[in-house]
Amino acid sequence: MYADVILPLPLPGFFTYAIPLDMQSKIGVGYRVIVPFGTRKHYTAIVAHIHRNRPVNMEIKTIHSLVDSHAAVNEQQLKLWEWIAFYYMSPLGDVYKAALPTSMKSRDLHRSFVPQTETFIAINPDIERNSLLQLAGRAKKQQALLAEITHYCTNHKVEQISKKELSTFNSFSTSVLNGLLQKDILILVRVETSRLEKEVAPTRPPHPLHPHQQKALTKINECFLGKQTCLLHGVTASGKTEIYIHLISQLLVEGKQTLYLLPEIALTTQLTQRLQAVFGNRLGIYHSGINDNERAEIWQKMLSSEPYEIIIGARSSLFLPFQRLGLVIVDEEHESSYKQQDPAPRYHARDVAVMLSLFSGAKCLLGSATPSIESYYNTKNGKYGLVTLEERFNGSMMPEILLQNTRDLRRRKKMKSSLSPKTIELIQTALDEGEQVILFRNRRGFAPMISCSQCEWTPKCSRCDVSLTYHKKHKQLVCHYCNHTYPVPKYCPSCHQESLTPLGLGTEQLEEEVAQLFPSYRVARMDMDTTRGKERYEKIIDDFQQQKIQILVGTQMLSKGLDFDHVKVVGVISADSLLNFPDFRSHERGFQLMTQAAGRAGRKQTSGTVVIQSSDPSNPIYEFIKNNDYMGFFETQIKERGLFHYPPFYRLIRVVIKHKDREKVEKAAFDYTELIKKTLQERVLGPNKPVVERVQLQYIQEILLKVENGYPSQKIRNILKEAEEKLRYVTDLKQVTLYYDVDPL
Ligand code: ADP
Ligand code: ZN
Ligand code: ZN
Repeated sequence: MYADVILPLPLPGFFTYAIPLDMQSKIGVGYRVIVPFGTRKHYTAIVAHIHRNRPVNMEIKTIHSLVDSHAAVNEQQLKLWEWIAFYYMSPLGDVYKAALPTSMKSRDLHRSFVPQTETFIAINPDIERNSLLQLAGRAKKQQALLAEITHYCTNHKVEQISKKELSTFNSFSTSVLNGLLQKDILILVRVETSRLEKEVAPTRPPHPLHPHQQKALTKINECFLGKQTCLLHGVTASGKTEIYIHLISQLLVEGKQTLYLLPEIALTTQLTQRLQAVFGNRLGIYHSGINDNERAEIWQKMLSSEPYEIIIGARSSLFLPFQRLGLVIVDEEHESSYKQQDPAPRYHARDVAVMLSLFSGAKCLLGSATPSIESYYNTKNGKYGLVTLEERFNGSMMPEILLQNTRDLRRRKKMKSSLSPKTIELIQTALDEGEQVILFRNRRGFAPMISCSQCEWTPKCSRCDVSLTYHKKHKQLVCHYCNHTYPVPKYCPSCHQESLTPLGLGTEQLEEEVAQLFPSYRVARMDMDTTRGKERYEKIIDDFQQQKIQILVGTQMLSKGLDFDHVKVVGVISADSLLNFPDFRSHERGFQLMTQAAGRAGRKQTSGTVVIQSSDPSNPIYEFIKNNDYMGFFETQIKERGLFHYPPFYRLIRVVIKHKDREKVEKAAFDYTELIKKTLQERVLGPNKPVVERVQLQYIQEILLKVENGYPSQKIRNILKEAEEKLRYVTDLKQVTLYYDVDPL
């Protein structure tokens, strides 16, 4: 018998091995096996098929050993892996690597999963019970402790006592214990304990739904009778999360599991608290911020007879082994952080969630106040169902939206800082009333760049083709592409004068300005620089929730789905920078970000105000935002998408070619383009240099494909793969890196 296995290497497809005779009755699909590969290397592979067809003309190696006595991966998962590998044009081995916790695929068996242990004390089983007290001799204290232990064990019908428990005994002291251990009367036992065993009891039932929430829930259920996927479009603070909680409760009654996806780890804290209050420890949390051993334990628990019934997590939780999946919720479905950028597989978690539901016979619910153009379009063409919630929970008002024309204010010399006088006034009023403020700026650091005021020299990263960002606190210049840091030169290296000045405004500078304007209030900043490490952002969110912080300054990280009770004013500082990106999605992103940011204001009884500072308030996008007119916005966008051949009418595939030698990259890109143009013709655009031409010493060339809906996906993939193979025959181009980004964002 033979097994086709998947190796944890960036290689496509399966590799066939012979199954040793004595293993044939013990092995199955989804089992992990150790196999030799290459010279003297062994890997943990996953069995995908078992069959009797000996591959011809090939030397066949034999499986070395079996890791599991049950499948570690189920057949639905394997099907999903294959779909991801096909659709996103990434090696199956890379999908496997992304799916399993590291310790479960570690090739060095000794380094693999280490269970957590706790020390217990037991009476040496080789000793006769009757002779125990004699052995303790005349040591009275030892006798007393022994008596107490014997008594405890008999009463509790246990053989061993945890060290912690023992330390509560009346006659316990460390020296007495050590005495008994030395005499070998007591022994230490290490027992494996679970890292997951935290008892979390539910504290409340789900809130009763309000009539409009109840109506939406009924509609969702009706919708699922006919459709596999449904979009819940509900304005911010309409109580979508509460509806999800009711849906999950329904599924629990049916004995089905729910996966609740969030776009960002930073959001899990608030939601975990909310869900744990209702579901206690039926809920598991899974994302890349959780340590690997714990993730491996969660995986094993999902395989056991008592799996978690609810998982909340970021995109990697799509890969868990669900046994009875009934529902996948994709919250904030429009978020671009659902797309994995690097490394492969470059998948979109929302779209994979839809496929996972399909393969598992489950339903999929997408939720958002600002749905992606693609998803909303899918409700129009009947692919997805649609349920709409137009009122905020509790009838709290949608926030009032004010536009501030910063160009005009600057011309009239009214802008004394980055905040307009009206913005400052609104903030002051909110603070006076004991309420809170959130300010957004989509650039971290102090200033996006520094420049010489004399000769216009600007510092660039030596490894990437970008200007460096000035970070004042650490007195550093940072490359936001490769994270390389540089000292700030005192003199301009070009004209040797002391003339370097910061240009533009980042979150760090905004924080400093705000702190100066409102010196008696606590200001904090939340962006990638202040939130490295899980505890840091949890602390910021907690402190803000408890009103220890009054003003929070941050990047878009802050706009996503957080629920604070006392935010009265939300400011979007330099909104233009959101819209001026040379990308067909920049308006969609700007609309989503500003609407979501606005959604953080006035979520409870008091109504809130949103100030948007823009140098071009005549841009029509602001009317849609002000009137909370998603539909109007969608109509203008969908027209443009059709006109300029963009999704959802055309599919995009980006081909990226990299190498440290510029000429090689250019030649490879040129040759590759020529090859695919023969069949794909005007669907091929490029090759082009991206805006940032070199990153981490590698030159980059990109080719963009726009393929009309209806063009067979198998055919296009074959054309691309064939061209890639041909390219790799040319010896001096073998070394270029080439990868695909399907549905790029
Ligand atoms: P969304 O997810 O649509 O932004 P949430 O579900 O976070 O909205 O609801 C906004 C606020 O209203 C939350 O603080 C939530 O606890 C509260 N809320 C929503 N629905 C109910 C309900 N039926 N009963 C009590 N409180 C609710
Ligand atoms: Zn760099
Ligand atoms: Zn200079």
